[in-house]
Amino acid sequence: MDEDKINGTLMWYYKICKREVWLMSKNIIPDQKDTNIDIGRFIHEMSYSRNKKEIEFGNVKFDVLLNTKDQLVIGETKKSSKFQEASRLQLLYYLRELKNANIDAKGILLYPEEKKRVEVELNEENIIELEKAEDEIVEIMNKEVPPPVAKNKFCRSCGYREYCFA
Ligand code: SF4
Repeated sequence: MDEDKINGTLMWYYKICKREVWLMSKNIIPDQKDTNIDIGRFIHEMSYSRNKKEIEFGNVKFDVLLNTKDQLVIGETKKSSKFQEASRLQLLYYLRELKNANIDAKGILLYPEEKKRVEVELNEENIIELEKAEDEIVEIMNKEVPPPVAKNKFCRSCGYREYCFA
């Protein structure tokens, strides 16, 4: 398994739970009936929908929030800023993929319920951060067994919680 398998979703989970990165990379499907997942999906679909357009680009899928002749702005609409670090890394990943294709873009994280927006910009420092994360994700994906359960603040709304805590 190599870096081609990495995508924005895995970058997000990397900041949340290494065990989840392994489970997702093995295509082990989480419990889709989880109510928290449904609420998150609903808000994601409804918020800012007037400006939003989803674009697929290689193995990258992101929301375009604004596309003027001078600036492409991509972003994510999230239920809460509780996992802002994970969303930031995910967005940096998208920005770096676009930069590799000679497309300059700006990133914004939107938290409609909190009326909050956070700007995200790619720089040399966070490109190194992305590379380190990618190396570690590849290492996790190549393991024969998942990393042990490490209880964290995402467990309560995680679709794998039955699997981890049964
Ligand atoms: S339930 Fe917790 S430990 Fe298990 S995969 Fe989800 S976040 Fe990770």
